[in-house]
Amino acid sequence: MSSLAPHPYPLSARLRDVRGSAIRDLLTLTARADVLSLAGGLPAADLLPRTRIADATARALAAPGAVQYSETAGVAALREVVAAIESARTGRDIGTGDVVVTSGSQQALDLLARVTLDPGDDVVVEDPAYVGALQVFQAAGAVLHGVPVDTDGMDVDALELLLLGGLRPRLVHTVASFHNPRGVTLSQARRARLCALADRYGFLVVEDDPYGLIAFDGPPPVPIAAHGERVARLGSASKVLAPALRVGWLVAPPEVSAGVERLKQSTDLCGSALTQTVAAELLADTTWFDEHLRSLRTAYRSRARALTAALDDAFGDAVTRSTPTGGMFCWVEFRDGRDTGALLPRAVDHGVAFVPGAAFAVGTPRTSALRCSFAGYPEPVLRGAVLRLAAAAT
Ligand code: PMP
Repeated sequence: MSSLAPHPYPLSARLRDVRGSAIRDLLTLTARADVLSLAGGLPAADLLPRTRIADATARALAAPGAVQYSETAGVAALREVVAAIESARTGRDIGTGDVVVTSGSQQALDLLARVTLDPGDDVVVEDPAYVGALQVFQAAGAVLHGVPVDTDGMDVDALELLLLGGLRPRLVHTVASFHNPRGVTLSQARRARLCALADRYGFLVVEDDPYGLIAFDGPPPVPIAAHGERVARLGSASKVLAPALRVGWLVAPPEVSAGVERLKQSTDLCGSALTQTVAAELLADTTWFDEHLRSLRTAYRSRARALTAALDDAFGDAVTRSTPTGGMFCWVEFRDGRDTGALLPRAVDHGVAFVPGAAFAVGTPRTSALRCSFAGYPEPVLRGAVLRLAAAAT
């Protein structure tokens, strides 16, 4: 045994300000085999293209580059196909050099925050917000300001009031398409106004868009980046290919992208050339990818409808709920104001889990709300999960 006086382990002040993710904790709690979990944001396991990934991996391994270190900004083949996808979606001329590939879009968000923020800087987030964004901004020492979300997405009037009141955020973060957790989509008129406000007040819009391609009816929403220059777009292969590839990307104004690339050098040198090569092959095979997207959209649409119909049958007017038009989430609120945090343990006893609304709160918690994902189970299982929820709620 050492006779030296014990020192506390060195932990940074910044860590103190980072709230643990209630959702990640919940995933542990709900991992029991007998619990149907509507809590996680996991894409459907039965729709992950495992055979296609295996074939592409075998092909990628034939070239030595796939198991080597690679360029920090990402392997060229992937940056090319992402540039093509982003150009088509935004109507802008995005080149390979404008794309930085990251380890999931979560890393892009983290690097972006570290590139743009100093401790004490103001950041606007949606309320309720994507929890992973709250963690990133808290870790960067930002001061968070919540703007409410209604059925048309972020309330841009409320944002403008904050700006008129003198708030000067550096970033405004939004999950504009098929919001996590609210399930709603920012209207095109609001997208254009958001860009006009960004130009007037000098902030950067962070368009966090992992769900945009999973539009149930019609084409994906036109991105915010189609409306203005002051936008950093984050994309992801997680929901359309597989999360384990850990492939995401950033398209941002050149100064910002260059900063992200520089910080990525010190963060992890480079991402995995192997999974990037696989993602490049799958995304570039447009015949296969379009068909794959079509089957994802069809399955998720049918699952969303099964879940909402079951909620209507079970709860009727006792709840209000979103009507998902894409993505993976439905937001439900009990009209009687009951506390969904207190309901959760009872629900788990009945074999079903969800995320209480309070987990996403920035300001006043929506304690009578909950988020459920419809992505993970086929329709009959979703119906069973809602029956369990109804039994727990009575
Ligand atoms: N943004 C949002 C809104 C998300 O919901 C998620 C994942 N749940 C991410 C970013 C991060 O995804 P990934 O790092 O897998 O690309």
